[in-house]
Amino acid sequence: MGKRNFFEILENFFLPRHCPACGDYVSSSSLGPLCLSCFEKIEYIHSSFCLGCGRMLEAPSTLFCPSCQKGTFRFDLARSVVTYTFPIRECIWAFKYRGMVSLASFFGDLLSEYLLTHPDFYQVDGVIPVPLHLSRLKERGFNQSLLLAKEISRSFKLPLILEVERIKPTLSQVNLTPIERKRNVKGAFRVLPDFSWSGKEVLVVDDIFTTGSTVNSLSQILKQAGCAKVLVLTLASARIS
Ligand SMILES: [Zn+2]
Ligand SMILES: [Zn+2]
Repeated sequence: MGKRNFFEILENFFLPRHCPACGDYVSSSSLGPLCLSCFEKIEYIHSSFCLGCGRMLEAPSTLFCPSCQKGTFRFDLARSVVTYTFPIRECIWAFKYRGMVSLASFFGDLLSEYLLTHPDFYQVDGVIPVPLHLSRLKERGFNQSLLLAKEISRSFKLPLILEVERIKPTLSQVNLTPIERKRNVKGAFRVLPDFSWSGKEVLVVDDIFTTGSTVNSLSQILKQAGCAKVLVLTLASARIS
């Protein structure tokens, strides 16, 4: 028995780990937090996605989704690494609502790998987490978007851009209709007086892209503040329904 195995066994004995997606006991730590069976079910977005917002298209014969065809979004380009389905959906839930912040490094690896292999993102000057309002931050204890942005910032030695704040205590978007979501986040953000990213290319990072209204509202503010290009990368996105 190698030294590493011995410590792994000890660690598993004292800190038994369970797969955040299915709850099964995970015996090896080499695959990260998920068990092998769940790990293999991750649905990466490789093809049939909207060239504007990056969501999987219902009709893969078109290049842009209806929202992008209408020119709804203010960002230049958005992409997601995986679909918002099992098992990543369960992982994000555990991360945000069960406080499993250790998942941030696993998510960070998925995001970093994506950035490394997609030249659209090679010119980025800095990374922006979607800010949480103070009241939500107090309730949750952490900003999930900031944890993801920190992982990217560390991997690529990119500065974190924190001179943006959320000024409106918005409702959770989960149970809102698309129109309500849009209204809910309108005017939700502002840049601080020391914001110095005019003329720069910035990357907004978040966990989920659903209707896109949150990152869109933030992108609008960033464009108004003079950012030359606003790119968005989210871990997961919902299929366009
Ligand atoms: Zn599992
Ligand atoms: Zn689109």
